[in-house]
Formats: sequence, structure tokens, C-alpha cells
Amino acid sequence: MNKIVLKGYNLEQLEAFVREQGEPRFRADQLFLWMYKHQAASFDDMSDVSRAFRQRLNDMAELHAAKIEAVQASRNGDTQKLLFRLKDGARVEAVLMFEDDRRTLCISTQVGCPIDCKFCATGLMGLKRNLTPGEIIDQVILAQRHAGQPITNLVVMGMGEPLLNYDNLMQALEILAHDKGPNLARRHIVVSTSGVLPAMRRFLQEGRKYRLAISLNATTDEVRTRIIPINKKWPIDALLQFAREYTRRSRERLTFEYVLLHGINDTLEDARRLLRMLTGIRCKVNLIPYNPTVRGFEPPPREAVQRFYEELRSLRAPVTIRWSKGVDIDAGCGQLVTKVEASEPEKAEAAMS
Ligand code: SAH
Ligand code: SF4
Repeated sequence: MNKIVLKGYNLEQLEAFVREQGEPRFRADQLFLWMYKHQAASFDDMSDVSRAFRQRLNDMAELHAAKIEAVQASRNGDTQKLLFRLKDGARVEAVLMFEDDRRTLCISTQVGCPIDCKFCATGLMGLKRNLTPGEIIDQVILAQRHAGQPITNLVVMGMGEPLLNYDNLMQALEILAHDKGPNLARRHIVVSTSGVLPAMRRFLQEGRKYRLAISLNATTDEVRTRIIPINKKWPIDALLQFAREYTRRSRERLTFEYVLLHGINDTLEDARRLLRMLTGIRCKVNLIPYNPTVRGFEPPPREAVQRFYEELRSLRAPVTIRWSKGVDIDAGCGQLVTKVEASEPEKAEAAMS
């Protein structure tokens, strides 16, 4: 029998579940607290749930949606890459970064990614499938247990295009930000998108309080379409128009990411165009020198990165150069890629229980 996986259920779903089981409603609150606040490792740890119900849970359900299969640490120790194995044998990665008193986790939302940006290793995998809310949440809960300390910041910038898995991601983030759950601060959660405009509009419409980042990566549609194919559908002007509306209506700043690819989008002309484009938009800019992948491309020389940065000086917005962490273990932006095994759900399940 295929067991159900409870991780990922929100309160309403847990209430429906306990009702079906003929259990009182307060069991749903207990399960929610045990799964998300106390982050129990097993049903047996849920000490105020009746022994009989715990037994039934063991028989019919599983608690975890994922399992840490391997951990790699960068040479300087400030970054760890966690490889997760999912029930169907698929794998995704998350990256844990230690910085001062912050612990930032970069999580995945899809196995692979359908967008196929030409500079990104994940893009080569194509889309295998969306992650479930439980698989998204377990990256955080298991990373936290692994680190032995709470995650303070979450960036949804791992494998996949988050906004193409909108419903599952929002369900996961709502649980992660819930005060009876991990209670992550919404403003410490950043969702990064390659520019899926309809979903960005929905995000604004629904008043989501997470931070939004747009991977701009070029200053002309010609170049952007070449490196991010969906630019054909949702071009730069449309994204900038959205950005203005977003900052006006939400009163929040948003972030523009700009991956610097030598000889493609790194000229001073580009920097000046970028400056003109972003002037008047309440934003932050992250310049990300390209991290090597099998896809070719080169990062600009260090001085060229610096010159690009200085050209943006008159922008009244913070600009930072983000030298990715963990490049020596392929944990930098755009370097995450995993093999997907021929589906062996039976074996995977056996290995996890
Ligand atoms: N799919 C989402 C989030 C994941 S990618 C998105 O594209 O926004 C996270 C960031 O890494 C994006 O800004 C993307 O442009 C950047 N990126 C991808 N490949 C990269 C590479 N090889 N070097 C540096 N940054 C890269
Ligand atoms: Fe997908 Fe983001 Fe990589 Fe583009 S950069 S292929 S959207 S993960």
C-alpha cells in the first residue's frame, strides 16, 4: 500500500484528515505543531497524541517527504550543499550558507526547470516535475535539523522556476511562515523568478508579503531572448512596467538580479542602459558574476565587474556584487543539477522507511 505523506498538509487539510480518521479536531493542531514547530522526527515522538492513533499513523502514513542523502562542504566551511532524495527516487539540492549570525538556505521548487536559460546548469535537465509542498518544506526542516540551528533566511533560488509551481510553493511558504510552525519572517524569504509575468501579477494581487527578485540579466530584448527564451513572451518593458506597479502598490522594494556574462551583457553600454532602465524604481540590484557550468560562457574579468558596478553608482538604490559562495562544490547560482533516476518508487520508499 502506498502510504500518504503528511508533511506539507496545511491546517485545513489536517482537519479533513483527522475527521476522516474519526479523531477529534484538536488532533489537527497537534499534528501541525509536531510537524512544523517541534519538527518531530517520527510519529512516535508526538507524545500527546494517543498511542492508538500514533500506531495508526505509523501504519498508514509517512512523516517525511524527503531525506538528506549527501552533504558536501565548501573548503572554507561557510557553505554546504545538501542533496535530497525524494520518494520517487528524484533528487534536488539545497544550499546552506553561514554568514555572521545568519543561516540562509537556498531551496529548490522543481526537479529540473523548463525555462532553459542558456547559462544555467539546471536548465539543461528540462522539467521532470514540480515539488510538492512537503518536499519544499522538508528541505528547510531537514536542513535546520542538520545545522542544529534555525534557518534565519530563505531564498527560493535553487533548482526550478518557483512561479511555475505557484500553488505548491505558496502552500509551503505559508506553513513555513506560520506562527504555529517554523515562524520564518516573511521579509526574510525571497522568491526569485526568471520573469513569469502572469504569476508575478498574481503574487502582487494576492498581497504576498515575501520579497520578490527578478532575474533581469540583459538590457536589450535581443540579448535577453537569446539567453532566457521566455523573454519572447514577457519582454523587458513588461517586466519593468510590472516592477513600477509592484513598488507602488505593495510599497516594497524589489530586487533585480543581473548575471554578468563576458562578451554578452557586460559592456559599459549595458551598465548605462541598466542605469536608465532602473532609475526611478525602488529596488536593489545584485550583480552575479557568472559561475562556471557545462554551458560555456565566461565571467567578466574582475576589473570589468568593478567597472560595471561603478557605472551604476548614480543609481539611488543599493547595488551589490554577489560573488557566489560554494563555487568549489558547484553550489553557486545556476550550478545545481542532479541526475534523475529511472523511477524506482518501491526501492526509494524502502530506503526511506
Ligand atoms: N529560476 C529562478 C530562481 C533560480 S536561479 C530564476 O531564474 O530567477 C537563481 C539565480 O541564479 C537567477 O538570478 C539566475 O539568473 C542565476 N543564475 C543562473 N545560472 C547562473 C550561473 N551559471 N551563474 C550565475 N548565476 C546564475
Ligand atoms: Fe530555470 Fe532559473 Fe536556471 Fe533559468 S536560471 S533555467 S529559470 S533555474
